[in-house]
Amino acid sequence: QDPFPRPGRIRVITVANQKGGVGKTTSTVNLGVALAMYGLRTLVIDLDPQGNTSTALGVEHTVGTPSIYDALVSDATLAEVTHPTTASPNLHCVPATIDLAGAEIELVSVVAREHRLRRSIEGYLDELPPEERPHYVLIDCPPSLGLLTLNALVAGDEVLIPIQCEYYALEGLGQLLSNIDLVRAHLNPGISVSTILLTMYDGRTKLADQVADEVRNHFGELVLTAVIPRNVRVSEAPGYGQSVLTYDPGSRGSTSYVEAARELAARGAQLAPASPPPPPPA
Ligand code: ADP
Ligand code: MG
Repeated sequence: QDPFPRPGRIRVITVANQKGGVGKTTSTVNLGVALAMYGLRTLVIDLDPQGNTSTALGVEHTVGTPSIYDALVSDATLAEVTHPTTASPNLHCVPATIDLAGAEIELVSVVAREHRLRRSIEGYLDELPPEERPHYVLIDCPPSLGLLTLNALVAGDEVLIPIQCEYYALEGLGQLLSNIDLVRAHLNPGISVSTILLTMYDGRTKLADQVADEVRNHFGELVLTAVIPRNVRVSEAPGYGQSVLTYDPGSRGSTSYVEAARELAARGAQLAPASPPPPPPA
């Protein structure tokens, strides 16, 4: 049995947590690389003006590089701003440039501003022949609940929340969850939290275990069994424009991200195919 089976349908997963430094970018990058290395076509969209995801995937993101900004604010298609990566032929990336920092303000006057990313992804998938469509689209959000994250919640089917095994881990989570509820009620009925990933776990501290237990009690099966340990190789890799899987494949950081990706893929295989559009009226 294939440990990385194809998902029942294309999975658009928004990686969100308005708290900074919890492992959103690190998880997006390493899960994306893992899925791609094990044969699943993956598109990673960097939605943080810092462009850390782009950096970690070795994708240029200097001002002027075709980026997510052009797709959101101008009328570039997603295909026009999608770049290959060196990590895997299965992995593509839409980078973010610092221009994106202005996008939240520029978008305010744009029609259907919350739907820009969703439209962009839909158009992209429609244009691609089925055999080139990604199995996974991962969207890395900035550390805020502004219009960019809102676009990502409207674009996604699923939310993956990384939670750092630290003090105040759960602080702010209520606000994120109520934002997701609001989006589901008003903008995107298809969105729900599907996955919680515990990150930066330090097995030497009692606190890390307490936080992990608390998160598991609260979120039950949504929490992946795989836990990402705090591991220096994980934090070194982006400096070399690499994921930890390519930088140090034997490290615990690498093996834990592969395991988390395997679990994610196994769950994806259980998903029912997207329902076909209703037949046109006779
Ligand atoms: P976010 O995108 O949520 O702001 P990052 O993924 O950028 O968070 O992670 C914040 C910092 O923590 C980065 O410097 C990153 O390299 C480091 N980091 C993330 N995960 C780990 C880990 N498992 N072990 C060690 N350092 C980590
Ligand atoms: Mg980040």
